[in-house]
Amino acid sequence: MRRAFLAALIALPSAAIAELRPQTVLPPPLPWSGPSERLVAAADDPWITPAERAGFATTPSYAETRAWLERLVAASPLLTLESFGRSGEGRDLLMVRARKGTAPRPVVLVQAGIHAGEIDGKDAGLMLLRDIALRGKDDLLDRVELVFVPIYNPDGHERASPWNFLALRGPAEKGTVGNARGINLNRDYAKADAPETRAMIALLRRLDPILYVDCHVSDGFDMGYDITFTYAGWGRYARHRTIADWLETRFDHAVTAALAQAGHHPIRYPSPIDTRAPTHGIRWSPEGPRYSTGYGDFIGVPTVLVENHMLKPYRQRVLGTYVLLEAALDVAARDAARIAAAKAADRAARPDTLLTRWQPAATPIGWVEDFRGVAFDWYRSPATGRSEQRWLGRPVTWRMPIIGQEPTETVRLPRAWWIPPGQAEVIDRLRLHGIRYETVAAPAAMPLDRVTLVDPVLLPPTDGRVPVAARFAHATVRETMPAGSLRVPVDQPLGLLAAALLEPESQDSFLAWGLLPEAMAKPQGTEAFVLAPLAEAMLAADPALRATFAARIAAEPAFAADPAARLAWFAGHLPGRDTGLYPIRRRVSRPSARR
Ligand SMILES: [Zn+2]
Repeated sequence: MRRAFLAALIALPSAAIAELRPQTVLPPPLPWSGPSERLVAAADDPWITPAERAGFATTPSYAETRAWLERLVAASPLLTLESFGRSGEGRDLLMVRARKGTAPRPVVLVQAGIHAGEIDGKDAGLMLLRDIALRGKDDLLDRVELVFVPIYNPDGHERASPWNFLALRGPAEKGTVGNARGINLNRDYAKADAPETRAMIALLRRLDPILYVDCHVSDGFDMGYDITFTYAGWGRYARHRTIADWLETRFDHAVTAALAQAGHHPIRYPSPIDTRAPTHGIRWSPEGPRYSTGYGDFIGVPTVLVENHMLKPYRQRVLGTYVLLEAALDVAARDAARIAAAKAADRAARPDTLLTRWQPAATPIGWVEDFRGVAFDWYRSPATGRSEQRWLGRPVTWRMPIIGQEPTETVRLPRAWWIPPGQAEVIDRLRLHGIRYETVAAPAAMPLDRVTLVDPVLLPPTDGRVPVAARFAHATVRETMPAGSLRVPVDQPLGLLAAALLEPESQDSFLAWGLLPEAMAKPQGTEAFVLAPLAEAMLAADPALRATFAARIAAEPAFAADPAARLAWFAGHLPGRDTGLYPIRRRVSRPSARR
């Protein structure tokens, strides 16, 4: 009896369920053909890629991909295959360098499979590398070097199953979202926990690319577009304006034109407000540095998020990705000097505020007049007991509002942050990101902004961390930072990234990601026969404390009835207990103008 109950609780899938073919429930595909189909190699071509040979029904494993690339690299003096790190399970993080000659050229960095099941970029990249190396497209390398990461998340890639990424129309088996620990690498750029992230951040610093392309496949609703892409803070929300302007004008125009010419249907990625009511609109929003695109925006590297539409067949998605990557290489080569100037301008900027909170704006900030939608109706689902959407595969036109954001919290940046020498996890990540700091040799006394957490709560665990939410109280206190403390100045090219990591209000701060759990620790108490008379003495000595305590007793019956909580409250008010204290200090005051 008990064993049967436990079995039902664990709900292992039956053999009958394992026999189901999940792709059969997908909505009907929209018919498509286009000039990009000519990119597919002939069946007897000795350099046909594994996906082409399979008619794009399957995608090669890590070992098959590596073997195919090793063969290609051996056949071309333009290509080398290197490892830029190791995954959590010890697989090489592979990258192909495609370049002419030995003179350094600006780098275009392309990564596939950060979400390992969204693997279109890998099979497109293999085809493009073949055509660069052996089929006459080597002029793409005349002015830039291509660095291609075929499988950024190899451990997730090897966990392939037809039961991953159920909404994606192919390939037959797909990897997982997260890495071997279930960490979503596209939430990890700021906190940098995963070995894959740490290797990629090091690679970004080493190459400092003029363009960084991150290939995904979207969620969302059905629509007439197949290849979509976007950048951090499209429209008005970018943290660095000059690079965003290049992306929104030059890159967007070149890539959109190339895709349209090749028969594809591109659009800026339409992030849905409500997939069950698509005409409620699409969202434009600021981004934090947890994402590839947000990280690129914060560090001053033009970064593009490609989001192929999930319901388009794998073959169509791969071909569109090929066209996008080729056009991206071409426009980056033509604009290399312009991009370098934009990067320099953004890295010289010294913003003095950081937007930390926002909410949807009440009125649309624009409209897409002729959005290519797909018709749907509703049916009663016995599984959910409500009406569910059924996409009909028939094109319709929608008028779509663009929902923007309005700021609700902006913090003014300090002159510097002070980090105590014991904060190893924080210091390690500052070093990894390349944020500049100095270590002080002697104790340093100065007025500092001390931040206290107000009503902190632990959020559900995600991506290998237990995130924290809190409000914050700020107070200026004269303090002495010990020798060995780090001073992180805001006045540096990565000052805004430092702010996003160190300002407690930031949604991607180390605190918010749970790297500073000591800020949540309960104060150290002692035996009640000591603490109780001490508390009585505190009440007698301090009328303000007495009033605060009385108010809390009156307002919170549960607290009043809980002797341990009452004692803990007094313990938290003992000198030196620092309850809820944010361990990093902010140096706010401006330097004196006269010197
Ligand atoms: Zn993705």
